[in-house]
Amino acid sequence: MPVPSLPGVELHERVPLARHTYMRIGGPARYFATPDDLAALDTLLLWARGIGLPLRVLGGGSNVLVADEGVDAIVVSLRRACGGIRFEGTRVHAGAAVMLPALARAAADEGLGGLEFAIGIPGSVGGALQSNAGIGDGRNIGALVEGVDVYGARGRRTLPGEELRFDYRRSNLRGSGVMVLGATLLLAPRPPETIEVEMRRLLEARGATQPTALPNAGSIFRNPPGDFAGRLIEAAGCKGLAVGHTRVSELHANFIVHDGAGTAAEVVALMEQVQERVFQHAGIQLLTEIEWWGDGPSPSPFPRPPELSDEP
Ligand SMILES: Cc1cc2nc3c(=O)[nH]c(=O)nc-3n(C[C@H](O)[C@H](O)[C@H](O)COP(=O)(O)OP(=O)(O)OC[C@H]3O[C@@H](n4cnc5c(N)ncnc54)[C@H](O)[C@@H]3O)c2cc1C
Repeated sequence: MPVPSLPGVELHERVPLARHTYMRIGGPARYFATPDDLAALDTLLLWARGIGLPLRVLGGGSNVLVADEGVDAIVVSLRRACGGIRFEGTRVHAGAAVMLPALARAAADEGLGGLEFAIGIPGSVGGALQSNAGIGDGRNIGALVEGVDVYGARGRRTLPGEELRFDYRRSNLRGSGVMVLGATLLLAPRPPETIEVEMRRLLEARGATQPTALPNAGSIFRNPPGDFAGRLIEAAGCKGLAVGHTRVSELHANFIVHDGAGTAAEVVALMEQVQERVFQHAGIQLLTEIEWWGDGPSPSPFPRPPELSDEP
């Protein structure tokens, strides 16, 4: 059957998601759609409803592990429809697809601080809001949010900050079934040179402690209360542990890297081994930070997805 023609939507069939994920792993999406604007997004959603396929939004693809079999879904990229940045005093309105490092730099150019922590996080605004992206000293995107524009069962609306809950690497947007279109963040005046110095320091620290040259998905496991997943994994002797083409990074034990030929099945098997060894060594059950994208039941390291509701 030919790929349907939807006005304002670039639509392709069987697109390998390895091309669109930071981990460079993942089988095909049944459809990969890039709407030009919100009107085209409406057209796409209408068509999606008609053919009964689930919809998944992909941001930077930096927090997902996609099954080798891919997903029988319409994967949507909002990079054209929601890619704008607009400043208004100390507020910034950022589209869901804006990447955090680009946003942090744009804010610095405006002499606005608050987003320095985001300079090395390779995710989009929409993805960052799902997991309340942040860094070890406690700074996170949730703390800056004034409102979030969403598309849900009640159509398009703005959720005010009071309706949103942000916690360590989670928010009530995650699993809620709403699509984030953009967010308004509250920043504070700060000299651009001061911001630049801090961002450089943060990037250097990342370069020294994370395997930035190899495909990875950032931290694989959440830090358990009062401890660090990386410390526990290293203490359990897992650094360098390998399955097929994948291995636990020697630089940062909470990262899994691969040589370009790794598979999702190998990553999952390695995660299971790490969980088992940490449990044997420290009696702690590590929970995943990354998200599984696949059809059918999730493999054992991943928790069941939360029940979907229409709104947070
Ligand atoms: C090298 C590296 C370093 C990292 N460092 C950090 C760090 O310091 N701190 C940190 O918190 N995280 C870090 N991460 C993890 C990751 O970058 C963040 O979780 C990021 O916020 C994910 O955003 P994304 O756009 O890539 O999301 P994706 O991986 O594309 O998607 C993640 C989830 O968000 C959903 N989603 C994405 N966009 C939308 C939208 N518009 N509406 C609704 N749902 C949406 C997806 O459907 C999916 O469920 C790192 C990852 C890597 C690879």
